[in-house]
Amino acid sequence: MSRTNPNILITGTPGVGKTTHAEQLARTLGFEHVSVNQIVKDEGFHEGKDEELGSWIVDEDKLLDHLESTNISETGGRVIDFHACDLFPERWIDLVVVLRCGSSTLYDRLSARGYTGKKLDENIDAEIMQVLLDEARESYDEQIVVELMSEGPDDVEGNLERVEAWVEGWKRDRNAEGS
Ligand code: ADP
Repeated sequence: MSRTNPNILITGTPGVGKTTHAEQLARTLGFEHVSVNQIVKDEGFHEGKDEELGSWIVDEDKLLDHLESTNISETGGRVIDFHACDLFPERWIDLVVVLRCGSSTLYDRLSARGYTGKKLDENIDAEIMQVLLDEARESYDEQIVVELMSEGPDDVEGNLERVEAWVEGWKRDRNAEGS
């Protein structure tokens, strides 16, 4: 693996704060924010929408081929933002951040987004059952998976500082290996 910058995956239930974190992190680090939902939508890498859950039925082969064609593995420097994590090859990812928040916070955020009924309930249940955290731990080496709270603005600030420090360490280790 030759990349000089790491690839960071930010995952979690819809509404936990992935976009908020990924946008700021990418800006600060000078990395590319890979908003997977946006790509799926813009490029049509889907087989329609699951109307009940409000999410795209993703054509994973097309999505992964597209990302591969951007040399994601070789060049690194991506902040990938998606509400699933088991589809990306392990060799692409250096750090997995699973964002978490309390169910009442998530309820308020998703209600504000217009989610109701099954769409709202299933996402709240998924957060309570830590579905994404388990998926991340099953899909990647547990040592690269970190769980971070995203309840308020102070959390965002602290989380970003923590990930930025991790990136510095990653680069230091790489340079030391290469020298
Ligand atoms: P996701 O990308 O995971 O769906 P967003 O980043 O779009 O989540 O956040 C959903 C909403 O919650 C937005 O209005 C955002 O401003 C708010 N939000 C997310 N995380 C926090 C946080 N830690 N503190 C305050 N507001 C937050």
